[in-house]
Amino acid sequence: MKSKSAIVIGAGIGGITAAIHLARAGFHVTVLEKNSRPGGRCNRFSREGHHFDTGPTLFVMPLLYEAEFLALGTSMYECLDLQRVDPTYHLVFDNGSRLALTSDMKSMQAQLESIQPGSFQGLQRYLQEGERHYQLVLDRLVNRDFRRASDLFNFQNLALIFRLKPFINHYHNMSAYFDEPRLKSAFTFQDIYMGLSPFEAPATYSMMPYTELAHGVWYPKGGMYRVVESLMELARQAGVEFIFSSAVERIDTNASHVRGVLLAGGSRLEADVVLANADLPYVYQHLLPHDGLAKALARKRFSCSVISFFWGVDKTYEALAPHTLFLADDYRENFERIERDLSLPANPSLYLHAPARLDSCMAPPGQDTLIAIVPVGHLSEDGQQDWGELRDEARGHVFRRLRTLGINDIEAHIKFEETYTPLSWAKRYNLMKGSTHGLSHTLTQMACFRPSNRHPRYRNLYFVGASTHPGTGMPTAMVSARLVAERIRDEL
Ligand SMILES: Cc1cc2nc3c(=O)[nH]c(=O)nc-3n(C[C@H](O)[C@H](O)[C@H](O)COP(=O)(O)OP(=O)(O)OC[C@H]3O[C@@H](n4cnc5c(N)ncnc54)[C@H](O)[C@@H]3O)c2cc1C
Repeated sequence: MKSKSAIVIGAGIGGITAAIHLARAGFHVTVLEKNSRPGGRCNRFSREGHHFDTGPTLFVMPLLYEAEFLALGTSMYECLDLQRVDPTYHLVFDNGSRLALTSDMKSMQAQLESIQPGSFQGLQRYLQEGERHYQLVLDRLVNRDFRRASDLFNFQNLALIFRLKPFINHYHNMSAYFDEPRLKSAFTFQDIYMGLSPFEAPATYSMMPYTELAHGVWYPKGGMYRVVESLMELARQAGVEFIFSSAVERIDTNASHVRGVLLAGGSRLEADVVLANADLPYVYQHLLPHDGLAKALARKRFSCSVISFFWGVDKTYEALAPHTLFLADDYRENFERIERDLSLPANPSLYLHAPARLDSCMAPPGQDTLIAIVPVGHLSEDGQQDWGELRDEARGHVFRRLRTLGINDIEAHIKFEETYTPLSWAKRYNLMKGSTHGLSHTLTQMACFRPSNRHPRYRNLYFVGASTHPGTGMPTAMVSARLVAERIRDEL
């Protein structure tokens, strides 16, 4: 019998992983990618011996990766050479005080007690809550498909409303554990990974600081792009065909089904099923006939964006830890400027990554590879944001923050710089509004409230990736790929 054919639009983590599952299930799979290399947001560039992961830099939720590699028929440990990063982050506050987040509870106790006496006990209780949330979210929300609303709204799940604190905002919930604002921010900033402010994220997200401390933040030797390279190897072994530099211009539809895709060059490819890994709202907006669904999606909440700086420097900055976070005192104002004003905060919290601290191959000997990420608002409808100006302001903030660590000479040592603004994210990967984490993860945009991974009208058009269920993040993109591949196998 002739095998069924699938076209996957986009070679991001979700697209490649789904392609492997489908090929292993007997489909003939072709992946079409607009760029010249795979990875999507999880990407990399190299220059003069410096290697930069341009998107993800944190390998978090290792148990999810482990399970997803197993589902692909292999072991994560065979594919990746992982080292644990501990302390995970070095936090630096406006008053110069510091906190190294570590799984060494003796060290945490000493550090926390010096910031707020009695707070270590608060951390222990907070981590217990985080563990409960983590287990429930993974079992009941992440690791399952929501094909219909009754998959969420049933008697069994009623208890989730009380146990996951979905209606209590995360920052507000911190008062049950800490009084000191620096500690409240130290254990809520992770919400930004969902593209959310802790002032509107549900308290459920205490699961993130929990998993980072309990299961660790890791680093694959060679950088995060090793994950993409490993998946590509598995895809090739499974017989997946990749066509790069090949942008899909339209999805070919009839009244109830899709027939294939039309490429930018004018050619047409047919398939039994089309799986879109390109950002879901972009697909509705640009690749499908316009309808009310595209408009409704464009009105949904989108996550923030970031301005990223990639610097090759001719000197090593040993004082810089692998992951440094500068957390601003005006924490709430920071998120308001990003979410409400779609702009750059006056005193932004920001992140600095020095991968050569973890793997010396990431920079030439005696030199350094530095990445700075400054969260900002996504692209506005009115197009009034001046990204050149905001980028220069953001750069100034990074230099200012580095001076607080005694690093005064960075500008003189930068050999070259690359920058990404929200415009770059939109252009490179077709991300709607340049939003780096896709559709936001507010309560009304989670689980069965997230757009379905199958189109409601075109029965053989499916979706995978950050703007689908379960949402943003590399391991979650792999989960999303497994869930949709199972659905395709069930329904086709
Ligand atoms: C700055 C940044 C930092 C992050 N940090 C982390 C982190 O530390 N840890 C973590 O786990 N996650 C992190 N993430 C999130 C993570 O990168 C994403 O959630 C994940 O990579 C998304 O994968 P995806 O499957 O949605 O595919 P995407 O990465 O969105 O890939 C989709 C692909 O589709 C292609 N495409 C689009 N339109 C077309 C078209 N018309 N034709 C053909 N191809 C098309 C795009 O070029 C792209 O390659 C970060 C993201 C960013 C941007």
